[in-house]
Amino acid sequence: MTQLKSTCSYCGVGCGVLVNKDRTGHLTVQGDPNHPGSKGMLCSKGMNLHYTVMDQSDRLLYPQMRYNRSMPLERVSWDDALDRAAAVFRSLIARYGPDSVGFYASGQCLTEEYYLINKLTKGFLGTNNLDTNSRLCMSSAVVGYKMALGEDSVPCSYEDIDQADTLLVAGANPAWCHPIIFRRVEARKAAFPDFKLIVIDPRRTQTASMADLHLQIRPGTDITLYHAIARGLIDRGLIDQDFIDNHTEGFAAFNEKVHERTLKEAASICGISVEDLKWAIEYIGRAKGFMTMWAMGLNQSVVGVNKNVSLLNLSLITGQIGKPGAGPLSLTGQPNAMGGRETGGMSNLLPAHRDMANPQHRQEVADFWGVPSVPAKPGYTATEMFEALRDGRMKAVWIVTTNPMVSLPDSKLVEEALQNARFVVVQDISNRSDTLAYADLVLPAAGWGEKAGTMTNSERRISYLNKFTDAPGEARPDAEIIWTFARKMGFGAAFNYASVAEVYDEHVRLTRGTRIDISGLSHERLKTTGTIQWPVPTRESTGTARLFEDRQFYTPSRKAQIKTVSDENQSEATSSDFPLILTTGRIRDQWHTMTRTGKVAKLNTHIPKPFLEIHPKDAEERSLREGDPVVITSARGEVRVNAKLTKDIRRGVVFLPMHWGKLLNDGFARANNLTQPLIDPISKEPDFKFSAVQVARY
Ligand code: SF4
Repeated sequence: MTQLKSTCSYCGVGCGVLVNKDRTGHLTVQGDPNHPGSKGMLCSKGMNLHYTVMDQSDRLLYPQMRYNRSMPLERVSWDDALDRAAAVFRSLIARYGPDSVGFYASGQCLTEEYYLINKLTKGFLGTNNLDTNSRLCMSSAVVGYKMALGEDSVPCSYEDIDQADTLLVAGANPAWCHPIIFRRVEARKAAFPDFKLIVIDPRRTQTASMADLHLQIRPGTDITLYHAIARGLIDRGLIDQDFIDNHTEGFAAFNEKVHERTLKEAASICGISVEDLKWAIEYIGRAKGFMTMWAMGLNQSVVGVNKNVSLLNLSLITGQIGKPGAGPLSLTGQPNAMGGRETGGMSNLLPAHRDMANPQHRQEVADFWGVPSVPAKPGYTATEMFEALRDGRMKAVWIVTTNPMVSLPDSKLVEEALQNARFVVVQDISNRSDTLAYADLVLPAAGWGEKAGTMTNSERRISYLNKFTDAPGEARPDAEIIWTFARKMGFGAAFNYASVAEVYDEHVRLTRGTRIDISGLSHERLKTTGTIQWPVPTRESTGTARLFEDRQFYTPSRKAQIKTVSDENQSEATSSDFPLILTTGRIRDQWHTMTRTGKVAKLNTHIPKPFLEIHPKDAEERSLREGDPVVITSARGEVRVNAKLTKDIRRGVVFLPMHWGKLLNDGFARANNLTQPLIDPISKEPDFKFSAVQVARY
């Protein structure tokens, strides 16, 4: 029996996993008791990770190609596949310019893979057209942190939960979607009964059902609520005036803004009682340690950045940052969205949190990569990229480890984009991806445990993932696929790596002297000493659990910025045709578009079918009963599932899980048939949580 360490490849909690392999190759997994973040715990998805590796029935085993969409895909050699890719990319770039091509990657990528794709795209192909599905997940949080703290820097750690007095969870259901963090919250509550959990969510989720205070607000009224809480804190003297005076800027304008509405007006807008609002103020204002956590309910919004900064303001006016038991902790959806941010693996970022708009930063990166320049113009973001493909501004897209046909908003637009693209490469592990139907070239990739590399979780903790088994068939590690393609493009000298450890060393060198300096790290160190939180500037450094303990922020003035924003929501308006608000989200045992969790029998038993959650009163108005087949329509499309009547959802709001794509017998359950491509103007994150729909029996 051999035992190797890894990290769960699902959510951003990043739990430590021990993988046991017996002589026959049979795998089992268990939680790593020595992992500081997860302490030996795994949730249902993590405990079943080995089944996704051992069941190879759906795996892509060899490269496949076609010259015409009316032809079937045919098996080809790796050489032929990557020669064709290089020929097409070269020809399109020569004819239409570098911005005619791009990569759409994933928060599932390892850091080394992100680094390589980023270097190839921005340094060598000459375009910033690299975006990832992390854009759909946390880009509003990134902008929020940058605006408030000066840089995309999560200030606190999971261990702060163990010392917090009050935790505000907004637009997230960690009991289902980040379960091992939530176990820590439960443990804190058990150890310290005065601990208060406030949950803000239009649905009474499992997290909300355990809250001391559930504020079941109307979708889109979050900012009004945070402003009202801020007003209450200010009026009752429950703010940290010394911290505000010495370590922040912008309080005067914010103070004026939050006094535009009375608590009564705000409560009425949010659809909650003034009493509950006052309890929230009391719990936050009296806490010695106040923490916040949030996820897609805030981020996936047309005003996602405004929601983020207004929530961050609550930490700033109370001085609850940079000290034990305090701080804003954004919950990352994917296992390595953070690693992507660190390598600059998005269309508007550069490595190590360098700024694309800064000519000096661009030149530093260009010099390091040995190229004359890095393009100044930001590339297309996720939804912009697919609009550009639909409109013909982009001709080719290389999709790495993600399934946009199910996960991007407005599926019809995505379908038109992929149909219109001249060349679509899909690099993935599974034949279950709906996007494969549009591929001209299919590249089989190695999955979790079949390759080595690093990831960073939600608390800045970097871990090394061992390889413990070989990939099936001819599948190759993603990094190897990218560097081989780069060599075929003629960039061999810059992509002449012998191992992913060399790629990691290069990424590490590029962080030197920055605020995410990890000069003290290497694969070898991570393998031997375990996980560590950045920054890690020297070999002697043991990592950094908490940022801003010195109250010095990363802004030019070194002061945190209290931003004043409008509380207006700019989502699609409801109408008599589409009077209900659709919100989408995850269920407990499935992951993203189910290409992995959907094949694990144990995980399918929890909730085997898609459903529509609807309030009994809304159902009654439509003569719907429990289990009735319903059609949900929006201006963009329809979905057919069965109704689940529950008082756990606000009246006027309905909920669909986001996991299912096209069902063989039951038509479409794909929630994104209904959503629209409306995006936040700064973060470019889509407004998944607010679409105007109608529901009827069919
Ligand atoms: Fe994996 Fe997230 Fe569950 Fe941890 S909480 S085991 S990282 S899915």
